[in-house]
Amino acid sequence: MRIELENLEGGKGEFAHVYQPGDLNPVDERIRLSKPATVSGKVRLAGNEVFVNGHVETQAQVECDRCLQPVEMPVNADFALEYITGSEYESSGAAELTEAELSVSVFDGEAIDVDEIVKEQIVLAVPTRMLCREDCEGICPECGTDRNTDNCSCSTDDTDPRWAALKNLI
Ligand SMILES: [Zn+2]
Ligand SMILES: [Zn+2]
Repeated sequence: MRIELENLEGGKGEFAHVYQPGDLNPVDERIRLSKPATVSGKVRLAGNEVFVNGHVETQAQVECDRCLQPVEMPVNADFALEYITGSEYESSGAAELTEAELSVSVFDGEAIDVDEIVKEQIVLAVPTRMLCREDCEGICPECGTDRNTDNCSCSTDDTDPRWAALKNLI
């Protein structure tokens, strides 16, 4: 969904939308949605700036860092964003600063892309390190067995060296 600024009455507007998981999947390499995502918010134009604030709610499925099994995680995020046009950005002398330093986003001056906002908020809500549980055993680097559910007989670095020596004799 895009909000066309020229359609805003009096420079203000409200928006609400429900995305089916398939509309946004995959959100990124490790995140997918398992339930619809709802977004609602307000837009306000002030000169060359646009302020967008609102709320995103959904359920994400994130890969465990160690075993790659999907982990369900609810997302409930409030956002408050500020946009300026590319030309405004350059004329403000801010070009030397990155968007992150300014905490504003640059846009084309015509429309705000709500799909992008929703995806970004979901990515921000998910921790960079995601584990299905603290003591997840992960996947065997040798054979790919999920060590949480199966044992494998691969030797690993933490094998007792005495056993390793014995193995060589067999
Ligand atoms: Zn895991
Ligand atoms: Zn193994």
